[in-house]
Amino acid sequence: MIESPAFFYNTLSQKKEIFIPLINGEVRMYTCGPTVYSYAHIGNFRTFIFEDLLRRYLKVKGYKVTQVMNITDVDDKTIKNSMEQGVSLEEYTKKYEKAFFDDLEILRIEKAEHYPRATEHVDEMINLIKSLEKNKVTYKKDGSTYFRISEFKDYGKLSKIDFENVISGSRYDSDEYEKEDVRDFVLWKKTDSESGEPSWDSPFGVGRPGWHIECSAMSMKYLGNSFDIHTGGVDNIFPHHENEIAQVEACTGKKFVNYWLHAEHLKVDNQKMSKSLGNFYTLRDLSEFNPLAIRYLLLSSHYRAKMNFTLDGVRQAETTVKKYNEFLRRVNDSPLCNEVNGELVKNIVNNFKEFIIALDDDLNISKALGHLFIMIRDVNSAISDKKFDNVSKDKVDKFINVFNSIVDIEENQSADSDNDEIEKLIAERNAARNNRDFKRADEIRDILKDKNIVIQDGKEKTTWYVDGQ
Ligand code: AMP
Ligand code: ZN
Repeated sequence: MIESPAFFYNTLSQKKEIFIPLINGEVRMYTCGPTVYSYAHIGNFRTFIFEDLLRRYLKVKGYKVTQVMNITDVDDKTIKNSMEQGVSLEEYTKKYEKAFFDDLEILRIEKAEHYPRATEHVDEMINLIKSLEKNKVTYKKDGSTYFRISEFKDYGKLSKIDFENVISGSRYDSDEYEKEDVRDFVLWKKTDSESGEPSWDSPFGVGRPGWHIECSAMSMKYLGNSFDIHTGGVDNIFPHHENEIAQVEACTGKKFVNYWLHAEHLKVDNQKMSKSLGNFYTLRDLSEFNPLAIRYLLLSSHYRAKMNFTLDGVRQAETTVKKYNEFLRRVNDSPLCNEVNGELVKNIVNNFKEFIIALDDDLNISKALGHLFIMIRDVNSAISDKKFDNVSKDKVDKFINVFNSIVDIEENQSADSDNDEIEKLIAERNAARNNRDFKRADEIRDILKDKNIVIQDGKEKTTWYVDGQ
């Protein structure tokens, strides 16, 4: 457990703040999940990987984390597409929900504790709307029920939007319904019983819930009226998260969430990667690449910095992941010298400390990675100079352990076929040498040299590394 304090940039206060959870040692966090109307794209996964980084970092800090991610399995798009395809809403959304969970696993995004589906929490949403009705912040128009935001004085405290300008400008909510004030948003949408659309009975008539009420009702159910962290992409700040605050705080009268963290967008050619622009990649489009490289790429720039996606970037990330795994193998395979290398021990300890300090500072992962790479460089050169000792190895192991539990790009051994091939060639070369077949032994050494593999014959075994690391 690493006890230094964590600082996060809070969208609500627009400042970095020290993180203090409501319950000592525990973190309750809500993350807006996918709408399962098609495959999630890697822009979505940038946000989900940022949330994974946050979750894993908090666990390394010793917190017990309870994370909730909703699955939006009813909205305009899921309904429209399922009706067009003539399948039930459930059949339609289940396919994409499964694909989403498969993708999470491929990208090693740790499982949240709860994945509530919207369609299974309609009762909770109805109850929340009933409380809002009781508190007189709703009105009905043309059969639908709306939140009247003029009744909630704190409206706008998260997004700091200048409403004077917005009102005179364009619409900014996607709900195509008539409302009294452009800022108001729908809580319950009337549906036409003839249309065949999925709908639920409620005290407000037959209809279905709006999108915003879903996250409020489900977060309250699983995390309580007030909790620690709420996350999402920056596009969620307004109106979605602003509306979540209005719904919960108008119901409970208490502060809903203490820390709001938002990830910047992944871009392509300097435009937001999005379904509507058609400029997106799903994991299926990138299946030729190592998924750990995609994970690494999406995670390696600071979550509040915009990031431009390129295929070249994925290729570079593949090289980095390979080098990191080569380093892990070398650390384990290299012989240790007897004399303690004090200078190296000091460097490793120092870089580990700086690695944590960088993460404590609003998850500054790019700076943290810089310290990992300095450590790798120092250790690699000590190994080449035969100056890698026991104590240094212990310190490296500690660093690697923490790094693996946060960044998690260690290859599964069985998947590492390149290494298997090298090991096989080395075994064949040693057998050739034992049989005094020096011609074959030299041939193999040349094959390995072409692959940039340098071999070192030790007393007990032959070790190898990739040149230039
Ligand atoms: P959606 O399925 O559209 O509700 O999005 C799921 C999550 O992905 C939300 O937290 C969005 O804010 C986030 N998101 C959508 N597009 C991008 C993008 N291009 N870059 C980063 N996050 C995104
Ligand atoms: Zn949400």
